[in-house]
Amino acid sequence: MAQLADDCFAFGGPLMTVATALEIIAERVPPLDGVERAALPEALGRVLAQDVRAGFDLPPHDNVAVDGYAFAHAALTPGAATELPVVGRFAAGDAPGRLVPGSAARVFTGAVLPAGADTVLMQEDARTIDDRVIVPPGLKPGANRRKAGEDLRAGQVALAVGHRLRAQDIALAAALGQDLLNVRRRPRVALFSTGDELVAPGGTLRPGAIYDANRFLLHGLLRELGCAVSDLGILPDRAESVRAALARAARDHDVLLTSGGISAGAEDHVKPALEALGALHFWRLAIKPGRPVALGRIGDAVFVGLPGNPVAVMVCFLKLARPLILRRAGARELMPSTFRVRSGFAFAKKADRREWVRARLVRGADGEPVAERFPRQGSGVISSLVESDGLVELPEALTRLEAGAMVDFLPFGEAHG
Ligand code: AMP
Ligand code: MG
Repeated sequence: MAQLADDCFAFGGPLMTVATALEIIAERVPPLDGVERAALPEALGRVLAQDVRAGFDLPPHDNVAVDGYAFAHAALTPGAATELPVVGRFAAGDAPGRLVPGSAARVFTGAVLPAGADTVLMQEDARTIDDRVIVPPGLKPGANRRKAGEDLRAGQVALAVGHRLRAQDIALAAALGQDLLNVRRRPRVALFSTGDELVAPGGTLRPGAIYDANRFLLHGLLRELGCAVSDLGILPDRAESVRAALARAARDHDVLLTSGGISAGAEDHVKPALEALGALHFWRLAIKPGRPVALGRIGDAVFVGLPGNPVAVMVCFLKLARPLILRRAGARELMPSTFRVRSGFAFAKKADRREWVRARLVRGADGEPVAERFPRQGSGVISSLVESDGLVELPEALTRLEAGAMVDFLPFGEAHG
């Protein structure tokens, strides 16, 4: 079936949907093996190769949530103030202590709740006379107490295999006392731009030339994904050079990523190079922007060829390259999150293709967010990526969007990390 799909979609025939492309990615892109031990600060952005489990209850003891006085709720007179002698003092870091029955203890935030106490009165609510505290009526049993294990129970999975570690995840591992985490190897990604018109920033712009922007867009996005990036520069529009560079890079990279040169024009050499060196899985998608996209394989390296226009690069990175790289990295969550917002614009669209419109989020008259279409939608307009907040995603079947309708919004923030 997959072979038929290749032929059909690669050589004329109907355009392939994004959903089918993602299925093919799931079928054909193998996650990397290779596990490393990473110290906590280095584990940021890495994919867990193994569950992190709580080795003990977190927190390990019942403890005190505020500065105040701890006592047994049962010692209070129902419906009236209760005066208790203050005996003992427990601060954070003190060894666990015991309450003298019928008394209160002076306690501070983070202290282990003394045995025999179950309730804490906040010091702001307390009146003291000499070494006695007056507890006003109305305090609930267990007030201002943090229960042992309320965060995690011993043995519970704290962070699941395949999870990509954010700062708060690393904080949880740290709270569980784990200083080294088993993470997947970083994908090694070889990055190229293609095109005779491209000049590296800093160089002289000869007539007819433009500066290479895509390589820096992709380099940043890949770094934020936790990849080890080899920036291999600009490939000229020459079949031989493209083929040689891809063959060389395939030897020691897990993913090869290019932009441009992927259409069927006489100056587009990436597709023939791929067919000569390995296998091509698809290259024409029912999407706008970015119809030509290639997925293939050279040896053990997975190849992704993105279109040349920078806006198409961003869209195709978010919807295709990023999920592919995350899958290669062993991650579980591949797709960027979207949310529903109200459209501030009407839009006519062709059926049978998925379209993304750059938009800004503004606050509507009722205070709810509204997506306003960015006025300059050309797929070479890089400032639209800077000045918009994200993409309104319009599904295949839709042909007419009315202003005020609810749409899916994909924030550019989803691309970052
Ligand atoms: P291509 O698919 O190679 O025909 O490129 C499509 C459009 O994207 C052309 O206008 C190219 O000049 C432009 N383009 C391709 N690569 C880059 C790049 N790295 N930076 C900026 N623009 C590019
Ligand atoms: Mg080109």
